[in-house]
Amino acid sequence: MARLSQARLASLNRTLENRTPDELLRWAKDIFGDRLAAISAMQRSGSVVCHMISQLKLDIPVLFVDTGVMFAETLETRDRIASQYGLNLRTLHPELTMTEQTEKHGVLYLSVEGQQSCCHMRKVEPLLAVKDDFDALIGSLRRSDGGRRGDCPILAVDPEMNAIRINPLANFTDEQLEEYITGNEVITNPLHEQGYSTIGCNRCTTPVLPNEPRRAGRWRHLGPWSMYCGINPTDTDEETSVAIDFPQDLIDRLLGQKTDFVI
Ligand code: SF4
Repeated sequence: MARLSQARLASLNRTLENRTPDELLRWAKDIFGDRLAAISAMQRSGSVVCHMISQLKLDIPVLFVDTGVMFAETLETRDRIASQYGLNLRTLHPELTMTEQTEKHGVLYLSVEGQQSCCHMRKVEPLLAVKDDFDALIGSLRRSDGGRRGDCPILAVDPEMNAIRINPLANFTDEQLEEYITGNEVITNPLHEQGYSTIGCNRCTTPVLPNEPRRAGRWRHLGPWSMYCGINPTDTDEETSVAIDFPQDLIDRLLGQKTDFVI
């Protein structure tokens, strides 16, 4: 095993900046093969990534973390996308049901500290349970979403998963996203049409007013200091642990692609 730091990805990230999402998805499949999965929360951007994977016939499994307190519309969107796009969709679950968790720990999502703990148990831990299966995870973060995502890299090391996070839509603008959805009639979560700009658990998500920030509807009851769940490592503001352990040959394959990128 060898260490791969975020800094060592800088040059490759610069090279990938000009690539389209399709090109990045093909490149990722080429590098990581069966050790690659996508993760989608079945929001707009995640739907687009699912559609692209299907169109490109890349046979990349899609992971969906069902916290047990998702909106029915989100689960229906997941099911429609899986069947109509022919995806290998794998749903991950937390160890405890929300009822069991509440009996053991109380209603965690009503405090800032509790929210972090609840999100870790219900979102992060189910993903950690499959960490040995994958070297890379495709996400759907976009810089246009602003906030901590305003400068998210295309490739990011994820120390907790010991994997690379790949954001093929990092450069996708709001206009490009809408054009893609409309032009391809992408299946999207109907809650977006009801004022939900982003969608998470039903306990912690509300619609937003037209003049509010996009993430204002997440953990509204806790105030603006609680806006991310931690399932995306680039949402955290910690400076520590920005390296992962990979086999040397995988690092060579990954970094070697910066000069002989072929579609
Ligand atoms: S969004 Fe709320 S209910 Fe869902 S895991 Fe986080 S704190 Fe718990």
